[in-house]
Amino acid sequence: MSQRTGILLVVSGPSGSGKTTLCRRLADLGEAHYSISCTTREPRPGEVDGRDYHFLTRGTFESRLAAGDFLEHAEVHGNFYGTLTSEATGPLAEGRDVVMDIDVQGAAQVRGCGDPVIQRALVDLFVMPADEEELWSRLSGRATDSEETIQLRMRNALAETEHWPEYQYRMLSSTREEDFARFQALVTAERMRASRCVSRANRP
Ligand code: 5GP
Repeated sequence: MSQRTGILLVVSGPSGSGKTTLCRRLADLGEAHYSISCTTREPRPGEVDGRDYHFLTRGTFESRLAAGDFLEHAEVHGNFYGTLTSEATGPLAEGRDVVMDIDVQGAAQVRGCGDPVIQRALVDLFVMPADEEELWSRLSGRATDSEETIQLRMRNALAETEHWPEYQYRMLSSTREEDFARFQALVTAERMRASRCVSRANRP
C-alpha cells in the first residue's frame, strides 16, 4: 500500500529537447506510468498504435472530445493531440506516478483544471536545449522529417521555448545521462514532498 499520493509529472519542451526519451526511460524502469496520448497525425515509421500514441481519425478524436473524455487537448503542427483523463486519474488512484509529455497549451490546461486530485499531484518541467544552435542541430537530426517540416518545427520550437517561465522547473539539456540523472533527482525529491505523504491517521 502506497504511503503517499502519486505525482503527475507534466513535461514540455521543443521537439528535439529529449523530453520524450526522459519520460519513456522513467516509465521503462517501472518508476511511472507513461501517459499515452491520442493524436490525429499519421504514425511515423516504427511507431505502434497503443504504445507510442492512440492514433485516431479526426472524427473519432472529435467525438471523444465532445464526450468530455480529454483532460487536455491542443492543435500542434496542424494535428490534434490530447490526453484522456483516464490516463492520469486511473494510475493516480492506485498511488502510481504518471509522466506526461505534452505541449505548452496542454500543460496550461492541466494547470487550470479544477480536479483537486490532479492539482495535488501536479509538477511541471520544461526541458530545453541550452541555445538556438543546439536546438537547430537537434531538430535537423531526425532523418524522417522533410526540410519544410524541420523549418516549421524550428519556428514552433522557438515560440514554445518562450513559455518556460510558466513551469515550476526548467532543465537546460546537456548529455542524455546527465539529463536523466537530474530528471530522476526531481522525481525523488517530489516523492518526499510532505504534502504527498499520507499521515498515519488517514491510512486505511
Ligand atoms: P510528435 O508529433 O513529435 O510526437 O509531438 C509533437 C508535439 O505534440 C510534442 O511537443 C508533444 O509534446 C506534443 N504532444 C504529444 N502528445 C500530446 C498531448 O496529448 N497533448 C498535447 N497538448 N500535446 C501533446
